[in-house]
Amino acid sequence: IRRVNSFRNGGKEDVGLLGGKGANLAEMTNTGLPVPPGFTITTEVCREFYRSGRRLPAGLLEEALAALVELEEEQDRVFGHVERPLLVSVRSGAVTSMPGMMDTILNLGLNDETVEGLAKLTDNRRFAYDCYRRFVQMYGSVVYNIEAVHFERLIQKEKQLTGCMEDQQLSVESLMSLIEQFKNLIEIRIGRSFPQDVKQQLQGAIEAVFLSWSSPRAKVYRKVHHIPEDQGTAVNVQSMVFGNMGETSGTGVLFTRNPSTGEDVMFGEFLMNAQGEDVVGGTRTPCPIAELQEAMPDAYKELSLCAKQLELHYRDMQDIEFTIENGKLYLLQTRNAKRNARAALKVAADLAREGRISKEEALMRIDVQHLNHLLHRSLNSEAGHAVMATGLPASPGAACGQVVFEADTAEEWKRAGKEVILVRLETTPEDIHGVIAAEGIVTLRGGMTSHAAVVARGMGKPCVCGCEAMQLDEEQQQLTGNGITIREGDWITIDGGSGQVIPGKLELREADLSPELMLILGWADEVRSMKVMANADSPVDARKAREFGAEGIGLCRTEHMFFSQTRLSIVQQMIVAEKETDRQAALNRLLPMQRSDFEEIFREMDGCPVTIRLLDPPLHEFLPNIEELTERLTALRSKEGDTLNERMELERMIRRVRDLQESNPMLGQRGCRLGIMFPEIYEMQVEAIFQAVLRCIRDGISVLPQVMIPLVGHVNELHLLRNMVDEVAEQVMGEERRYCSYKVGTMIEVPRAALTAGEIARSADFFSFGTNDLTQMTFGYSRDDAEGKFLAHYVENKLLPHNPFQVLDTEGVGKLIEMAVAQGRARNPMLTTGICGEHGGDYESIMFCQRIGLDYISCSPYRLPVSRIAAAQAHI
Ligand code: ADP
Ligand code: MG
Ligand code: MG
Repeated sequence: IRRVNSFRNGGKEDVGLLGGKGANLAEMTNTGLPVPPGFTITTEVCREFYRSGRRLPAGLLEEALAALVELEEEQDRVFGHVERPLLVSVRSGAVTSMPGMMDTILNLGLNDETVEGLAKLTDNRRFAYDCYRRFVQMYGSVVYNIEAVHFERLIQKEKQLTGCMEDQQLSVESLMSLIEQFKNLIEIRIGRSFPQDVKQQLQGAIEAVFLSWSSPRAKVYRKVHHIPEDQGTAVNVQSMVFGNMGETSGTGVLFTRNPSTGEDVMFGEFLMNAQGEDVVGGTRTPCPIAELQEAMPDAYKELSLCAKQLELHYRDMQDIEFTIENGKLYLLQTRNAKRNARAALKVAADLAREGRISKEEALMRIDVQHLNHLLHRSLNSEAGHAVMATGLPASPGAACGQVVFEADTAEEWKRAGKEVILVRLETTPEDIHGVIAAEGIVTLRGGMTSHAAVVARGMGKPCVCGCEAMQLDEEQQQLTGNGITIREGDWITIDGGSGQVIPGKLELREADLSPELMLILGWADEVRSMKVMANADSPVDARKAREFGAEGIGLCRTEHMFFSQTRLSIVQQMIVAEKETDRQAALNRLLPMQRSDFEEIFREMDGCPVTIRLLDPPLHEFLPNIEELTERLTALRSKEGDTLNERMELERMIRRVRDLQESNPMLGQRGCRLGIMFPEIYEMQVEAIFQAVLRCIRDGISVLPQVMIPLVGHVNELHLLRNMVDEVAEQVMGEERRYCSYKVGTMIEVPRAALTAGEIARSADFFSFGTNDLTQMTFGYSRDDAEGKFLAHYVENKLLPHNPFQVLDTEGVGKLIEMAVAQGRARNPMLTTGICGEHGGDYESIMFCQRIGLDYISCSPYRLPVSRIAAAQAHI
């Protein structure tokens, strides 16, 4: 690969030097597809450009000009020639695709003289001047950074003056006048006249493309998508072909399959008599690709063949840019198409079913973050709401938020914790930060391949485009459609799947599992080695978990069964009881409730292990509110009549609550410490568990109970409680004369437990890493306070790479886990190990769990699909 490299040299594997576009142009050229000739200036030159203070390396321009000779020969034209001028496009091409972020200039090589040559050569003055008009305009905005609106305004005025509705109706005279106006505008703005020297034009354009790498919007995009700053962009210089030559010419964008549904049908848009950005810019509304079949059957047929060939060649769905010049098809770009989660699943499943890729490859192509984003949310009911407009369903999923009309406002409001929907006439790459901040995006103009649509799909965000039936009054900051007016800050709901824009805040619902997802999840289950279990606290959760493929329950938090209104008051009676008998009375009432919960969960989980954690949280979470008690007491005192007994009881309760209060409850009487201080509570729970087990067994259900002791820090705690479990279990089984096997294990969530895991493993059948508490205690960060107080700042300022409560800190907390696993297994070869904190559903953390050889991960039911695929990817 030379630093100025012809498309005839290189291919898709050279993406690092040639950039995505350049590498694929070379690949297509060398596959024999119809690509206009050209060459690529490499990313290495871009890096050099920045190293030497934003200057082109010596001799580079000469090399580029020399490379033009090949184009000149092939096209029988000459760069800058007054009769047979060669025109080129100068196109950016980053290594990682950044749609719409970087700049491109078309029709370069035109000046006051060559435009006449082009007119004569093509016998089409209007066409020649249309090219020149576009060129000056693009050059002005890309090279001189003059805002697009200034040019648009002049065009608008010219159209009004001459009574034209559309750009392509403008006469040659109008175009010539516009060119002069543009040149004046440039001269006023930059103090120099528009360059007539084509070599100077080329240099300016190449430099501008390199400079666009460091534009603010490109920087924002790279930050969001984690693209390295030093990757740089290549520059592609390519012979122009013309879609604006009349009614047998046109330009368009094609997806080889539907990027929203994944359906194996070509999907795209085109415009007749148009050039370049006309299709994606949203100024004219394009036609669906199917209509090309009628308009130009031959070109359509060739395009379909090319599409199939490219898909086969790349073994993936492609996104193709094409232009037709006088009936002849040219391909200008191809890349692996962006697609939403649903389409990604379907395409991966279909390609594997078609035998084009393996199941493992299909699995690796699923972006789990993306999948997670879209697995959720659709409208709860399809009907019964007013609709302001139905636009194009550009990126599926439903979202609601408060309307904002500016990208900056979107960003500000988001930072203030609001949910916003960004509504724009059309979006341009400058709006990227607003799109990132918004829950969803609405545009009034532009098609399915417009900038907003592409970016939203890439981020898995709901988006509705081309809502032409609505009016946006930018002055008044209001949006009107179907007689409904919405102002900034009002709530709307959008459905990117149907294209509906709905006033107000509608209820949203989680998504169902599609057949393709089920298929791929099945493959994931074949491939992965870690078990995937669920955190589920109720029979309803357990059913959901089963449905989402859980192989058991890794964590059932029994305190969640205490939180209902009726139960809570009994729990409170139990806690404030001072006499053993009073406490026992309350516990006796709780027992059947717990037992029936466990029973139902066991039934749902027939044949799978169910891990039940004994009561864990600090007592104060169940204590009656002391202020409320005091108020009641005051009220009683002012009441007439005999209230002595009631008063004494209240006073007693207040005293008792005060006694039980702790200044640091999270480090206080909770977990196994509570179980040791109040043994009746754990005894009741264990009794309930085993009674439930036996009832299920009697009904032929296969139950695999695992009793989990929380917050163990010293092996003696576990010893004591394990004995208690065994005793109670034996007693219950003895009474019922039935036996069942069970396991007793512990959570490893106190650093001391991890440090002494060898000892602990001798009394434990399993370890379940409670990474929430383990992270809290290893860092010494209060989980409830850290996020709001300093963690965000820490992450922002790179003091920490991630929020450790979201992504497992592999270096610290992870080291404890790794060590505990090794020591535990050394002492107890039968030990099983797993993770049950929030991290069990986090991609990076799952990769870590695989690396250190955990037996299972456990996460919330809704995360299960993601975790199953992540676990498979971790194994591959
Ligand atoms: P982007 O990366 O923003 O898509 P491109 O470099 O692909 O920018 O250029 C945008 C559009 O300009 C293309 O889709 C195509 O329509 C048009 N274009 C670029 N190069 C040429 C060319 N050599 N001939 C005709 N049209 C071109
Ligand atoms: Mg572009
Ligand atoms: Mg392109």
